[in-house]
Amino acid sequence: MRKITLFITILVLLGTTFVFSWGFFAHKRVNRLAVFTLPKELIGFYKSNINFITEQAVAPDKRRYSDKEEAPRHYLDADHYDLHHPFDSIPTKWKEAVAKYSEDTLKAYGTVPWRIQERLAQLTQAFKERDSAKILFYSADLGHYVADACVPLHSTENYDGQMSGQKGLHGFWESRLPELFADDYYYWVGKATYISDPLDESFKLLKGSFAALDSVFKFEKELTEKMGKDKKYSFEQRGNKNIQVYSYDFSKAYHEQLDGMVERRMRVAIKAVGSYWYTAWVNAGQPNMKKLVNKSQSDTEKEKAEKDEAAFQNGKALGRVE
Ligand SMILES: [Zn+2]
Repeated sequence: MRKITLFITILVLLGTTFVFSWGFFAHKRVNRLAVFTLPKELIGFYKSNINFITEQAVAPDKRRYSDKEEAPRHYLDADHYDLHHPFDSIPTKWKEAVAKYSEDTLKAYGTVPWRIQERLAQLTQAFKERDSAKILFYSADLGHYVADACVPLHSTENYDGQMSGQKGLHGFWESRLPELFADDYYYWVGKATYISDPLDESFKLLKGSFAALDSVFKFEKELTEKMGKDKKYSFEQRGNKNIQVYSYDFSKAYHEQLDGMVERRMRVAIKAVGSYWYTAWVNAGQPNMKKLVNKSQSDTEKEKAEKDEAAFQNGKALGRVE
C-alpha cells in the first residue's frame, strides 16, 4: 500500500494523468473472488494460493513499464473499425483479422481477445505439465486480461474521454468508483462454467463492454453540466500530497445513474475469469490437483518479475497507460 501511495505521489509530482485497467483494487478483487467460482477439484489448490492469485492480478499492468509490446494487449479499440457495429466487421480469428487489417493496425488498436487466447493456451499447457508455478502465473495473468475485456472503456478509442472533453473518465470509472462503492456489491456469481468457444467468448465480453459505452459517456457529460466543475472535483490527501479527485458527491451521483453497471461488469468479470481457468483445466484433461509437480518459479521468471517491479516503481508506462 505504501508503495502504491508513493507511486501515485511520484506521478502527481510529474503531473501525469494516470489510468489503469480496472484499477489495482478491482483487478485484485476480481481474481480473488473468481477462486470461489471453482468446482471442488480446483478450489483447494487455488484457495491455498489465493494471495498469489490476488497480488499477481496486476502483474500485466506493471509489465507495461518494461515492455513496450504490453500496452495494446489490454484493450481493443473496437470503434476504430466501425463506429456503431464493429463486431460485425472484426474477424475473431487472428489470422483473418491480420489479413483484413494488418498486424500493425491490430497492435495499434489493441489485441486483448487474442492475448486471452494465448494465455489460455499457456495455462492449459501448464495444467498438462502439472506445473504448479506455471499454473499460478498464467492463471493470475489470464485473469487480468479477461477482466480488462469486461471494462467498457477498454473497447473504445476514446478510452479516457480524451476525444469528448471528458479526460480522466477511465480512472474514474474503473478505479475511483470501485474503490468507493465496491464493498457494497453482491459478489456471488455462481459456479464457473465450461467455455466451448473461448475466443468467441472474449468477443462477447467486449461486446458487452462496448454496449455500455453510450451511458458511460452520456451520464458523465450530463452530470458535469448539471453539477458544474466546482462540484465535480475535490481534493484528497495522498501521502503528503493534495491531489484532485472526482468528488464524492459527483462519484455517487454518477454511480447511481449507471444503475449497477460497475457491479454488473465486475460480476461478469469474476464469473468469466473462473470459467476461463476451469476451461483450461478441463481442456488439459482434468489433472488431479493433488498430484502436481511443485515447481517453484524459474530463476529467469523471477528475475523478469523483479525487473518489471523495478521499472514500475521508477517510471512511466510505455505506450498507452490504460
Ligand atoms: Zn490491464
